[in-house]
Amino acid sequence: MATPDLNERFSRQVILPSVGMAGQKKWESSTVLLAGEGVTLQAAQKALESTGLSKIIVVDSPPSQLSSFSLAIVVTEKTDLRREISRQLRAQSKPTLFAWLSGSGYSLFLTKHLNGQCPCLECFEVMNPKAFAQAEPTVQRILGAMAASEALLWILNEQSPLEGRVWINSLEEGTSFRHEVRSSPKCPALLLDEGVVVTP
Ligand SMILES: [Zn+2]
Repeated sequence: MATPDLNERFSRQVILPSVGMAGQKKWESSTVLLAGEGVTLQAAQKALESTGLSKIIVVDSPPSQLSSFSLAIVVTEKTDLRREISRQLRAQSKPTLFAWLSGSGYSLFLTKHLNGQCPCLECFEVMNPKAFAQAEPTVQRILGAMAASEALLWILNEQSPLEGRVWINSLEEGTSFRHEVRSSPKCPALLLDEGVVVTP
């Protein structure tokens, strides 16, 4: 239960019809797994904490065991970690929001990994191997804040228009597109499930 001080602190968001006391309680009682590092991680963590969501499990390497959480947010720029944790989360049917730097902007993708199945991040990656980029801290901060914002919406509604879709935003051109991510027969995670030896 929030103390009066906390209620005061979060009163501006509690009065939003889309949040309310019920939404505020959902945020305060939720645990998220946050995988990443650097500016993006800090921005995401700060944005999550600013709403009262304080149970954040931060990881910068694949956890040996996944504990209980509402949603995983993966913002790491490390390709190997992103893939490895994606496989872990997929295998355990954990809803996951991926956020990464792309082109002159950033992209987001949310998948529930229903029944431990694709579509997963690697389904997108085999079709778009060059979709991952680097960027300045300014863009990293936007990315972290956007990831947190989408994660908070998902916790409120337990659904999102981003489910099964990648949302690609270019800051230079000012464009924003959403594309469906389909399961790929070439997905390395799927091939591993089928016992095919995959070179990473
Ligand atoms: Zn896949």
